[in-house]
Amino acid sequence: MNWQQEYAQNITTAEALATYLPLSTDEIIRIDEVIKRYPMSISRYYLSLIDPKDPNDPIRKMAVPSGHELLEDDGSFDTSGEGDNTVLDGLQHKYRQTALLLSTNLCAMYCRHCFRKRLVGLADEEIMKQFDHMVDYIATHQEVSNVLITGGDALLNSNRVLEYYLKTLVQFDHLDFIRFGSRLPVTFPMRISEDEELLALLKKYSQQKTIYVVTQFNHPNELTDHARKAIKALLDCHIIVSNQTVLLKGVNDDSDVLSSLMRGLTSMGVIPYYVFQCRPVTGVKDSFQIPLKQGAAIVDSAKSQLNGLAKRFRYVMSHPTGKIEILGQLQDEMLFKYHQAKYPTDQSRIFMQSLSDDDCWLGEIKGN
Ligand code: SF4
Repeated sequence: MNWQQEYAQNITTAEALATYLPLSTDEIIRIDEVIKRYPMSISRYYLSLIDPKDPNDPIRKMAVPSGHELLEDDGSFDTSGEGDNTVLDGLQHKYRQTALLLSTNLCAMYCRHCFRKRLVGLADEEIMKQFDHMVDYIATHQEVSNVLITGGDALLNSNRVLEYYLKTLVQFDHLDFIRFGSRLPVTFPMRISEDEELLALLKKYSQQKTIYVVTQFNHPNELTDHARKAIKALLDCHIIVSNQTVLLKGVNDDSDVLSSLMRGLTSMGVIPYYVFQCRPVTGVKDSFQIPLKQGAAIVDSAKSQLNGLAKRFRYVMSHPTGKIEILGQLQDEMLFKYHQAKYPTDQSRIFMQSLSDDDCWLGEIKGN
């Protein structure tokens, strides 16, 4: 069976899910309601990582819809200002050096905590279709030093589409590297490790331009032999793999879990790049966000257990005004620093903000 045939076997209905996990009739009805609004798709591989006997299994929490998703009306579907940064359909340009392409609205698994819940498995209006315009934009914006191809899941595109992107982008001398955003090493690793054609094209183009895959491992249970094989296959093609964990309630809001994850990633040759504060997304925030003060304490405690390479990551939030590093608590206030700023006057600015113990996000920022 090739990866497309395996992908076609993904579990997308409550009825099918009930053949793998014990679900009550009420749960089946609730899941059916949720997926009318926020689709479900789980690869059979990722489903196999769930302990069916544990209702609080962390993989289950990330993959299986919950009735809470429909109870939230507040929050936002665009928490970091993606609409404002869209310069062409499917092309965002927020930070001077980075262009971001939305290449697909499909993923091998629709994470319940996804910050692009507005589009995954749903509408494709925001997806890149005007390739010529994208090429013109990159060509005329010499300040762009890297392109992030994401989605949805960038590596779920066909090899033909991926080759188009690579063949086109490697020609630009002003690009230092190309990045793919993909959770496939975590949710569907066989699409990588068992596709010789994909590996051959990654190997070919990595000789012409540095290529990164940025992935998202969130829990040590995701560090399986299959995942290791996919990572090794990428590394063998001279792809650099880095990881962006999302800090999630009930999944990895525990310093031992987080440190074990970072150790495992480092042992696989994956660079721990960021730990992201979960965004206040409608249908996500109440189930997954933890307060910033608590998050900083968990991150500090995890870092105290790690060697230098395993604690290279920064704890950050993607705010409409930039990528803000959460430095920690100073007496009653929290300390933050702009790691990437939308507006040049904010670049590297350090600021303090009073937060309650329950605050999970920054509203208006002093000095902006
Ligand atoms: S793989 Fe990424 S884009 Fe897809 S559902 Fe998960 S978090 Fe969202």
